[in-house]
Amino acid sequence: MFTSFSLAGIEMPDHLERLREEVRAFLRAELEAGSYTREPSGWDRYDAAFSRKVADRGWIGMTWPRQYGGHERTSLERYVVTEELLAAGAPVRAHWLADRQFGPLLLAAGSEDQKRTYLPRIAAGECYVCVGMSEPDSGSDLASIRTKATKVEGGWRVSGRKVWTSYAHRAHLMNLFARTAAFDEKNRHEGVTQLIVDLDWPGITIKPIINLANDHDFNEVLFDDVFVPDDRVIGAVGNGWKQVSGELAHERAGSERWLNAYGVLVHLLDSAGTHPERGSAEKIGRLVTHLWTLHRMSFSLAGLLNQGITPAVEAALVKDLGNQFDQDIPEAARQVLQEEDRARLPEEDRFNDMLDRALLYAPSYPIRGGTREILRGIIARGLGLR
Ligand SMILES: Cc1cc2nc3c(=O)[nH]c(=O)nc-3n(C[C@H](O)[C@H](O)[C@H](O)COP(=O)(O)OP(=O)(O)OC[C@H]3O[C@@H](n4cnc5c(N)ncnc54)[C@H](O)[C@@H]3O)c2cc1C
Repeated sequence: MFTSFSLAGIEMPDHLERLREEVRAFLRAELEAGSYTREPSGWDRYDAAFSRKVADRGWIGMTWPRQYGGHERTSLERYVVTEELLAAGAPVRAHWLADRQFGPLLLAAGSEDQKRTYLPRIAAGECYVCVGMSEPDSGSDLASIRTKATKVEGGWRVSGRKVWTSYAHRAHLMNLFARTAAFDEKNRHEGVTQLIVDLDWPGITIKPIINLANDHDFNEVLFDDVFVPDDRVIGAVGNGWKQVSGELAHERAGSERWLNAYGVLVHLLDSAGTHPERGSAEKIGRLVTHLWTLHRMSFSLAGLLNQGITPAVEAALVKDLGNQFDQDIPEAARQVLQEEDRARLPEEDRFNDMLDRALLYAPSYPIRGGTREILRGIIARGLGLR
């Protein structure tokens, strides 16, 4: 049965345009000062010093209550700031997950003590968090995880293995998804719990996994009888599945799902009219219209988040279309610019560098944060088609 689906158009009010200008001025100054270099995807670049500068501007924890170090601004304001940071290719990865989903998770389900302990440090750009969901045999089917937390006096003993854990080697905390009750096929979503784990605790081993671009961004994380105190349980024991479902809407709705190759598109625009025989104007024109549509969709979802609505189906749609878009840009660039065109580009443009990286990262976009097939299943169910 069709439940609800909302992607209402929202106009961009003047005060948001002023905020956008403020962020652009900050980024221009930082770029000129050499504090970062433009990347096709700053979302894949980790720079703690840059994150602290973003925090100093009040752009981490923007929507959170002041009592927890937040700034009580709207999700629409947060949307504008994050969109500008990503479009500029600024290195935002260090604080991203803590700001985007761990903070909102604690506000929704965390204890008062957890909120007071972690949120001010995150908002100050000093505490980074990774997500420990996937395991060697559990990715799409997250309920089948085998990392086990066994109840002991005063806490839990955790053993198991997580994989593809982005930036576990640079984070302070992991939001760990573990099984606290035996798996039951009939109630497969029950008995899983979220725990806050310090990554320097005894019994934790973090091993690098090198990606296609030869970068170390994700890891394998092993837990060998790690003690996790009771006060590190987020929400109720066994309620992890419901909590994760809310978290995923934050994870999938934003512009990080379609701004990973934006720098390549901007450069490509310069060559739009130069190769009519390769259909360059048509290809680039199509990309620009898709860009604008995705911008309107994500902004609309920010409006829903602002009203306290969790747009799970709409977010899945944005991520699916956005992933396609992020793959279409480097592919169009590859078709429009041939080797001799690329050889003529000035090195200081860094376009070749950007394009090579965008091509190498492109295959990962529709896998991280939920695969295309899984998202399409969610969309079909949400629309009552399945
Ligand atoms: C760059 C990157 C960063 C990541 N970072 C993190 C992280 O920080 N933390 C974390 O926990 N995980 C992370 N992941 C893992 C990611 O969430 C999983 O890879 C993803 O959920 C898919 O799981 P899987 O790899 O086990 O593939 P599988 O689930 O085994 O899927 C394999 C294929 O089968 C298809 N498939 C599976 N089930 C179905 C179905 N029911 N119907 C139709 N098709 C199906 C999938 O779509 C896919 O094409 C990251 C992955 C990448 C690539």
